[in-house]
Amino acid sequence: MKDHVLTATPAIYSFTKASFLTTLSRWLMIAGLIILAGCASTPKKKPLPPAAQAQINELRTIPLPERLPIPVKGIKAYQLKDTWGAARSQGRRHEGIDIMAERGTKVLSATTGIVVDMRNNNLGGKVIWIAGPAGSYHYYAHLDKHKRGLNVGDRVKKGQVIGYVGNTGNARGGSPHLHYGIYLSGKGRGAVNPFLYLFRS
Ligand SMILES: [Zn+2]
Repeated sequence: MKDHVLTATPAIYSFTKASFLTTLSRWLMIAGLIILAGCASTPKKKPLPPAAQAQINELRTIPLPERLPIPVKGIKAYQLKDTWGAARSQGRRHEGIDIMAERGTKVLSATTGIVVDMRNNNLGGKVIWIAGPAGSYHYYAHLDKHKRGLNVGDRVKKGQVIGYVGNTGNARGGSPHLHYGIYLSGKGRGAVNPFLYLFRS
């Protein structure tokens, strides 16, 4: 979505009245797109306890393992299907992997990390964002429930239960599954295919 900003940047230099409205509407559209993109793929900013922020900074210095454990209890690598890049509504592409499992199956953190956001969003429903090693962010969506007692700012271990598989958000009415996304360097940038990290785990 940031590409839209770059391609439209020259417009700010045209100050004629005739083009002013065009420019304004274009910028409003861009702002809208950025907000939409933000809803879909970035942890919403909320001040974290200073201790949690310090731990996130410390995690940045640890490399992200090349293999991560499958974040759904009991699911084996051969059961995974690579759903990266599949078409989604409104021209979106699937930025993650859908791991099918029965409702209520335990969702496990794929990494050590800090819980940075647990607020619902329209697409993901009940979600958890975890800041992990090397500035990575891990997105767990369509949860039926969060693990009771889990809070923003909490430190989680690899393999720790963080929630339960469901079909909240835009998965409503469909088969329960975990949507798992990995974003390198965080903030919705650099989505990478989680299948490549999980398939040999
Ligand atoms: Zn998905």
